[in-house]
Amino acid sequence: MKAIDRRFRFLLLHAAAGALLVSSTAAALPETSAAPSRAKAPTVAEAKVFVEEAEARLLELFEEAGRAGWVQATYITDDTEILAAKANERAIAAGVEYAKKATRFDKLKLPEDVARKLKLLKVGLTLAAPSNPKESEEVTRLQASMEGIYGKGKYCPQGKDKCLDLQDITKIMAESRDAAQLLDVWRGWHSIAVPIRPEYTRFVELANKGARELGFADTGAMWRSKYDMPPDDFAKEVDRLWEQVKPLYSSLHSYVRWKLREKYGDAVPANGPIPAHLTGNMWAQDWSNVYDLVAPKDADPGFDLTKILKAKKVDAKEMVRYGERFFTSLGFEALPESFWERSLFTKPRDREVVCHASAWDVDNVNDLRIKMCIDTTAEDFSTIHHELGHNFYQRAYNTKPGLFRDSANDGFHEAVGDTIALSITPEYLVKIGLLDKPTDPSKDIGLLMTRALEKLAFLPFGLLVDQWRWKVFSGEIKPANYNATWWELRTRYQGVAPSVARTENDFDPGAKYHIPANVPYTRYFLAAILQFQFHRALSEAAGCTGPLHRCSIYGSKEAGKKLNAMLEVGLSRPWPDALEAISGKREMDATAIRDYFAPLQKWLDEQNRGKPVGW
Ligand SMILES: [Zn+2]
Repeated sequence: MKAIDRRFRFLLLHAAAGALLVSSTAAALPETSAAPSRAKAPTVAEAKVFVEEAEARLLELFEEAGRAGWVQATYITDDTEILAAKANERAIAAGVEYAKKATRFDKLKLPEDVARKLKLLKVGLTLAAPSNPKESEEVTRLQASMEGIYGKGKYCPQGKDKCLDLQDITKIMAESRDAAQLLDVWRGWHSIAVPIRPEYTRFVELANKGARELGFADTGAMWRSKYDMPPDDFAKEVDRLWEQVKPLYSSLHSYVRWKLREKYGDAVPANGPIPAHLTGNMWAQDWSNVYDLVAPKDADPGFDLTKILKAKKVDAKEMVRYGERFFTSLGFEALPESFWERSLFTKPRDREVVCHASAWDVDNVNDLRIKMCIDTTAEDFSTIHHELGHNFYQRAYNTKPGLFRDSANDGFHEAVGDTIALSITPEYLVKIGLLDKPTDPSKDIGLLMTRALEKLAFLPFGLLVDQWRWKVFSGEIKPANYNATWWELRTRYQGVAPSVARTENDFDPGAKYHIPANVPYTRYFLAAILQFQFHRALSEAAGCTGPLHRCSIYGSKEAGKKLNAMLEVGLSRPWPDALEAISGKREMDATAIRDYFAPLQKWLDEQNRGKPVGW
């Protein structure tokens, strides 16, 4: 997946903080909700004061952590890492403390905004450490240890002197067409997760204990409760969305399976799951790397944006200007001068930086920045539009109270940037002078296939990671079945299967970063669904009547108005309100994906005629 962008609100409590999840919580919280004080009943006035204080204090800590984090990411030294880690720890510890204290007001009847803020304080956590200091220390140590095992994971092939890290293996997975080599590195990488298994088992017990102290049934229920609906209903909602796109996925799956069979022979069954090591990606979550094996004939779009950008000598800053002009064309105000002064656009020659693209709102008001080592390529051109989506979102909700300065749910933030990137069509490139004339629609299948291999192929994986984890946290999946159930889900949803026998000595879920790092995953699934729903709604607002994949909202003030109506809600209202502001509907709807890929579906049906579909 693309960026886990650094946004300093609750985000500190998950992805960006990573291994730093604190050990200071236990010490800081001697008297928490585990043993609620019976002294006297809290009052509404106390709740208000508490929320105000929490909001102000967290904003301050997030800004401090943001500044330290920025320096660390753009100037990596031992010192900046330590300072950033300390700032993160302080912010996370405060977040945990406020979450626990917020439970004190659970029974009170409160004004709506106060009640919502109290709820947000509680559901923002990814990991609730138990109040028992020893257990709290243990769970944070386990988390750091698991992430450490993953981060240091290397596969050392027998008889070779060089060990392979994930970066090396990723490259082999992407480029090699030697099935034996692919299987070898696939097995090798999965072997790094074996020692994570006992730690994860214990981690689940302790994390659940902390979640129960906050009043949740288990950690999975705590994660789902942030979606403004009962946790069980949300799980059903996710499945409903999947059912809407499953037929389309199934068509793509069968076509790709056929093409892989042409390449790899009987290693790929004519009818059944695709071997997990042959899709160009370790987790079979993105099939873009096998495009050359499945590319439709005569579908070359006839232009190469990378070449065009290079020929025009478009530099990094000008690439970003193109992105900014997209937003101003929709009616948004230009980015502040400080954005241009403080962002990092190019890789410095003389120091280490984190090149992974990210968008920042350092002071949670107007200090917007992106950090990216921009190359003059089509991919980076698209990523810039994506990152700026975060920045314009951040600015749109910056007048809301601090606790409401975030996206409507965690899928929304990623979806906005991707929505804008969907508008990078050949017609858009013509309008901004990068392309002379629009491409022939007969070549669209190539462009659609490229998008499908990335976005459609991802959906079942995006769904199943937390399907597995929710059941692990709830106890429905027992430790004795961790690996078998993982593969049951991967086969059921993705239609992939391992080519070598797996046992309960393996821990294949642990070979995916977000499991040992304890980062929720459903947001990526939601973002992948929502971006098409947004794109369809905005294209309608822009008056686009052609095929959805050809619509670009560039230049449409009407689309801009609708987009802004959603963005400015931030997290102040339940997400269906924000969704209604942009789409007129209160339900997430995956049918926009079917609309978008309709020409591809038709083409796939023709290719698949007479061949088995499904697995
Ligand atoms: Zn992003």
